[in-house]
Parts: sequence; C-alpha cells; structure tokens
Amino acid sequence: MCLGNGTSQTFSIGYDSFLSFLGNGMNKIYADHAATTPLDEDAYQAMEPYLRYEYGNPSSAHSLGRLPQKAITESREMIAACIGAEADEIVFTSGGTESDNWAIKGVALKYQNRGRHLITSAIEHHAVLHSCDFLGNLGFETTILPVDTEGVVHQSVLENSLRRDTILVSVMLANNEIGTVQDVAGLSQVARASRCLFHTDAVQVVGHLPVDVKTLGCDLLSASAHKFNGPKGVGFLYIRRGVELWNWLSGGGQEGRRRAGTENVAGIVGMAVALRKNIAMMNETLIHLNRLSALLLERLTNSGVDYRMNGAKERVPGNVSLSIRGMDGEQILHRLDLRGIAISTGSACNSRHTELSHVVRAIGVPAEYAHGTIRISLGRSNTEEEVIRIADEIRKIVRPIRD
Ligand code: PLP
Repeated sequence: MCLGNGTSQTFSIGYDSFLSFLGNGMNKIYADHAATTPLDEDAYQAMEPYLRYEYGNPSSAHSLGRLPQKAITESREMIAACIGAEADEIVFTSGGTESDNWAIKGVALKYQNRGRHLITSAIEHHAVLHSCDFLGNLGFETTILPVDTEGVVHQSVLENSLRRDTILVSVMLANNEIGTVQDVAGLSQVARASRCLFHTDAVQVVGHLPVDVKTLGCDLLSASAHKFNGPKGVGFLYIRRGVELWNWLSGGGQEGRRRAGTENVAGIVGMAVALRKNIAMMNETLIHLNRLSALLLERLTNSGVDYRMNGAKERVPGNVSLSIRGMDGEQILHRLDLRGIAISTGSACNSRHTELSHVVRAIGVPAEYAHGTIRISLGRSNTEEEVIRIADEIRKIVRPIRD
C-alpha cells in the first residue's frame, strides 16, 4: 500500500484494502514488518504528553519550550548511545528517505570540488538510487556496483570502481527485499583507503541487529523509527564529526543549524524509547525470529512447495524472501490478503507494480521462479501458530494450481 502520491484513487485503493483487512472477522496475521512495524506501547505512552500537553516549541525561550527541548536532548543521547555515536553526531529527520537523500545529495553538493563521482549498489532502496539519478542531472556520475546471487557486494568490485574523483560510496547495511546483510566494515575500509566518504542505509538493521558506527567505519548512517516499532515520519542521520553536508532545508537554526524546521518532538521521543526497547529485547527477538523462519521454511518444504530462498546466510532476522516456481507474487499476495495475511512482494512502494523488482533482477533469480517472489517479514509478536498458518495458506494457493 503506497499512499504517498496524494491522488484520491491511490488513497481509496489503500483505504479499501485497509478496511477489508480489518473487517472480515478472521484472525489477522501481520507478516510485513520490513514495510513497517506496529508502534510499541511504551513508545506511544512516552509520546502522548508531547502530543497533548507539552506542546511548546522546543526553540521557544519561555518555560513551555523547556521540557520539549530537554526531551529532544535526552532522546538524542539515548539514540547516540544505541549506535556507539556521540549525541552531536545525530540529526533528526523525517525518516529513512530524507536521511538517504540528504546523505547523498548533501555530500555531493558539499564536496563537488573534490570530485563528481559516486558509487552505490544495484540493490539499494530507491531513496538512494533516485538521489543518484537526480545528481546525474547536475553532472555527477554514479557507478552502480553489481551484486552476486545472494545480493552481496564484493570488496574487489568496489576496489575496481574507485576513481580519483570518487567522493562517496553508499552501500546499504541490509537489503529490505531479501534481507542480505553486507560486510559494511570491510567495504568502508576500502572506501577510506581511497579517501572517500562512506554512507550506509541501515534502515532495516537499526533496532534489529547490533549497530556500532565505529565498528562499521561509516561516515553517515540512515535510520527510520517506523522500522523498529517507533512512529512513522521520523528518523535520523548519523553524521560523523568532521563530515560536512550541504544543508538542503533552509530556515531556522534547529538541529545545530544543520536541519531547519521545528522538530517532531513526540516522534523523536517515541523513536528513542522504541529503539532502546528493541535493543533490550534484541537477543530474545533474534532467537524467536530465527525459530519462526526455520519453521516456515520447513513447513513449506515438507508440503512440496517448489521455492528458492533469496538472500545470504547473514540476514535481517525474520526477513524471508521466497521465489516460488511458476507462480505470480502479486496473486499470492492478494490471495493471502483475502485470507487475512499481510505480506509483500518486495519493497512496499513497489508492491502495486507487476514488473520484477530491481533487486530480484540484480540477484538473477531464474525466470521460472522470479515472478513468484514474495517477502514474508516476521516480527516479535508473530507466533508459531501464525507461521504454520502462513505456510499452509501458501501451500493451498500454490499446490492446487500445480497438482
Ligand atoms: N531504506 C530502506 C532500506 C528501506 O527499507 C526504507 C523503507 O522501506 C527506506 C529507506 C525509506 O524509509 P522511510 O519509509 O522512513 O522513508
């Protein structure tokens, strides 16, 4: 469901399917956590005062601004501690898309005197790829690195693509469609040896796997609250001390004069609480999700569904990308939706398109499987019973056609 373009048609389609998802009395199963996660109750409780009573502008000099300002400061410190950063290295944004756009365009426009060449990978989120396209119109050049069949970017491929005029390498920490986690620490070392900056889109990883910016060796890192049980419309960009970005929002002096605009106080508070809680529960969640993923695959295999599992062994917990032979991913999605199960065929904003996603193409899924690609992304509240039901419903959709 992609509600972003504001047309009434898009909205009514999204709203209808939302109502049908709620309305037909079945036990609903949400298995699309890579698209978004439910808001954590503690995060919601922490946000509520800032939505209702503590509405002061954090930049105000009077007393109503004090508590919101304090809440922002404390949230920044909490978030920084969660990723091994300093508080002044965290800048709040409206989410992953803004963070990616700002990192890429911000570096390009700030450092263009040093060079006009960027490097990224073929499986990045469109927030990254389209930012590079935009820069292409301004005379920048981007090399798109290929990935192997598991979606891995190899260091040697990066080494061979670096040029004297390369200013930025951007490779995501984990892919949203197939879950592959990259060796960003290794890739950033290669970039550093060539004295260019390194950005990583960690939207699918922050809050799900340990993230330490120093271990990763990155200069910039994007994150989004709604992917880790925080609210939508808020995220952050880690900017290593000493890295300067072109500021693309002109206005007031918020966020240390780096990002103009009155802060989303409630969102920032909710994001910090959600992140801290996810990290506290991380080991337990990891074990739970690995068990559920294994159960799902075992059940599908035992029921004779002919599928290929996409992605690498190192993956985001709970992200299960499958390509089912001779099937159509869209059809599976809609039939599961009618049975009260929410999954995806790829990234959320691609899910209304029938053509193969750029990620499925980049990893070279064989043609007879490629169109049957679905993504089941499990979250901490999913249960074994739900996973068994998902597998059984997929079998019922797939096997009657094939038997
Ligand atoms: N990057 C990745 C890897 C994502 O999965 C997403 C969201 O799907 C984004 C960026 C965009 O984040 P947001 O929805 O917060 O704009």
